[in-house]
Amino acid sequence: MSGELSPDEIARYSRHLLMPEVTIEGQRRLKAGRVLCIGAGGLGSPATLYLAAAGVGTIGLIDSDVVDISNLQRQLLHGTKDIGRKKLESARDRLRDVNPHVHVVLHHGRFSADNALTIARDYDVVVDGSDNFPTRYLSNDVCVWLGKPNVYGSIFRFDGQTTVFAPHLGGPCYRCLFPEPPTPGSVPNCAEAGVLGVLPGIIGTLQALEAIKLIIGIGDPLVGRLLHCDALKMKFREFNVRRDPACPVCGSNPSITEPIDYEQFCSGDTEPARLPSINVQDLKRKIDAGEKFLLIDVREPFEYEIARIDGAKLIPLREIAQRADDLRDEEIVVHCHSGMRSAQAVELLRKAGLTNVSNLEGGIDAWSEEIDPTVPRY
Ligand SMILES: [Zn+2]
Repeated sequence: MSGELSPDEIARYSRHLLMPEVTIEGQRRLKAGRVLCIGAGGLGSPATLYLAAAGVGTIGLIDSDVVDISNLQRQLLHGTKDIGRKKLESARDRLRDVNPHVHVVLHHGRFSADNALTIARDYDVVVDGSDNFPTRYLSNDVCVWLGKPNVYGSIFRFDGQTTVFAPHLGGPCYRCLFPEPPTPGSVPNCAEAGVLGVLPGIIGTLQALEAIKLIIGIGDPLVGRLLHCDALKMKFREFNVRRDPACPVCGSNPSITEPIDYEQFCSGDTEPARLPSINVQDLKRKIDAGEKFLLIDVREPFEYEIARIDGAKLIPLREIAQRADDLRDEEIVVHCHSGMRSAQAVELLRKAGLTNVSNLEGGIDAWSEEIDPTVPRY
């Protein structure tokens, strides 16, 4: 156990030291503790802010993004002045200000099959604040192999959930609950579906709390229990979750024992990239040239209200299959917010026998970014 506490630290952490469950011994454990947080976004912001404030001695952060104005609604590590900066740099400055005693380690880039084991090995606890399935499976697998608790959190619109995956402590891992990733496009991410700004604050804070309890070794960790928060009804529900003895990673006869190609694993059978597609530059050229074709927007009506491409016809994804017959004999370009739902629509239309259909890469978001900045981004 390294590290005596300086007088300044004793003053700083006095509200911890007063509690018999923590005391100076617990605070020393926090100081010696090492937590890796994957992502400096919606979950990573509250998680690392509270971990730093609590005096966790070493906080590792991995992220490859730059601060965007749309992040600020929930990612409180970053401020308006940080727009355009690397999230890691903005996060480091903020965390140092919160607590200069904390050592912040920056891992630039993506958490990937190549670097995950090497990075995670140096930490006691991993907080998964990622927003995509390949990273979640990777983070899970690596933690199982290294015997480290993986504090999971996810958010979607008004719903959030958190648990601690730790087969070595008797609970399940992520793959015990979700052996297969969802079909690509079936689960929209925050950029597609939105998220209430406070919700990641709640879930990320719970993740920090679990990490702190694990480091000090107090209380009952959220192992074998999945906590779900419905923010609209303000209901917390707890589900018991169990290990699957046949789990491919933590089961008794594991089939996955080293990092796999997670992007491919999560891309499933359908590969939108293989569908006929068109980029926003080409779409602009077609429109400017007055070509005759039908532009179909498969988003939801409320999204159409927020932003639209002139001339696009709104047919939400769930209606597209029934409408296929009306669309025969036309050249069709399909778009959505960022290209995932429209890829599904293109597939549905092709299955219905339509041949002249292509997907707009990057959706209206790319259109707004590259072609028409007057179209609001959301
Ligand atoms: Zn498992």
